[in-house]
Amino acid sequence: MRDPDLAREATRQLTICNACRYCEGYCAVFPALELRQTFTGGDIAYLASLCHDCRACYYACMYAPPHPFAVNLPRTLAAVRTDTYRRHTWPAVLGQLHSRSTAAAVVAAGVALLVTLWAAWLAGERLFQVHTGPGAFYRVIPHWAMLVVGLGLGGYWMAVWAIAGVRFWRESTTGAMRVQARALGLAAWDVLRLRWLGGGDAGCPYPTERPSQSRRISHGLVFYGFLAAFASTTSAAIYQELLGRLPPYPVVSLPVLLGSAGGVAMIAGCLGLWQQKRHSDQAPAAAETLGSDYVFLIALGMTNVTGMLTLFLRQTPLMGVTLAVHLGTVAGLYVTAAHGKFIHAVYRVLALVRSRAEQRTGHLPLEVAPAARHHAGAIDPDGSVPPQ
Ligand code: SF4
Ligand code: SF4
Repeated sequence: MRDPDLAREATRQLTICNACRYCEGYCAVFPALELRQTFTGGDIAYLASLCHDCRACYYACMYAPPHPFAVNLPRTLAAVRTDTYRRHTWPAVLGQLHSRSTAAAVVAAGVALLVTLWAAWLAGERLFQVHTGPGAFYRVIPHWAMLVVGLGLGGYWMAVWAIAGVRFWRESTTGAMRVQARALGLAAWDVLRLRWLGGGDAGCPYPTERPSQSRRISHGLVFYGFLAAFASTTSAAIYQELLGRLPPYPVVSLPVLLGSAGGVAMIAGCLGLWQQKRHSDQAPAAAETLGSDYVFLIALGMTNVTGMLTLFLRQTPLMGVTLAVHLGTVAGLYVTAAHGKFIHAVYRVLALVRSRAEQRTGHLPLEVAPAARHHAGAIDPDGSVPPQ
């Protein structure tokens, strides 16, 4: 880790939790924690990526502030995640955007504006004309320009994620680690059903101490909406490249139905997450991550709103303008996805894979902690436990 103070503080709190173990059923962090006695920087980054900020441990903790132990795992692990995003970002200079939300917003908005103006310039006088029928979009903004944004910036986004994923995996898995197919399958199932966001029957204590399923529902809308939008883009590519059918497509067609469902779901999910974030308890929140969360929600929400507007206005003179703005917001989203909150998806999926692999094989790069449970009252503030 880059910040030695943060590494020390995270180690202190994790050591206290490892001795206490009161929260071991809350999430994937605690079972992974209990397999260790000491923590490398990679271990801390891994555990932080297993945490999904539900705050159950904070509200349950007898050592949370104002107790002198000041255990606040959600806040500390969120700070560790931001540190991880910064260190593994390529190019390194853009890693700062993870903790400087104003700069991140300016970069995303600047890219969106530049691409919108460029698309409008390419359209020229066709921008305000009515275009209908197959190929109407490409008569306003050329196909190659859309490919430049889609494949160019989209490819950049994927490259940044791939580099970050490889760096994180190398750091967090000291020594060789075998990942069996079954562990991969179980991790994929954990991801698809948003397993840990359920927080048990009652849900997570987020945005307030009262348990609810609201965050899981909003997160699910964004997650499945994104998958539907991806399926829509894929089906549109098949229509165009394999079947020779150019957009725009009829309302009752696979690309439009999937895209509309995904767009509406993501808009609803973004609004839900925004509302929950606004009303969430700030005591267990890490200040440096909040801005980045909002920037991502705005970028994703704007992209979907402009996408839906393009659908509604596609037979009017406003189609060209909305299409140019939509292309701009897509470009801004790609930059935000590469250098903003969205990258947590990479780390979280890899951490869940490692968690399942550890549970399956018992492999550990370090020594395995004894399973002894110590009496909570015997813990010292530095996390050490006197001999029993
Ligand atoms: S120290 Fe607090 S947060 Fe950690 S396991 Fe115990 S009760 Fe949970
Ligand atoms: S905040 Fe939730 S996910 Fe994170 S360590 Fe605590 S209980 Fe686990």
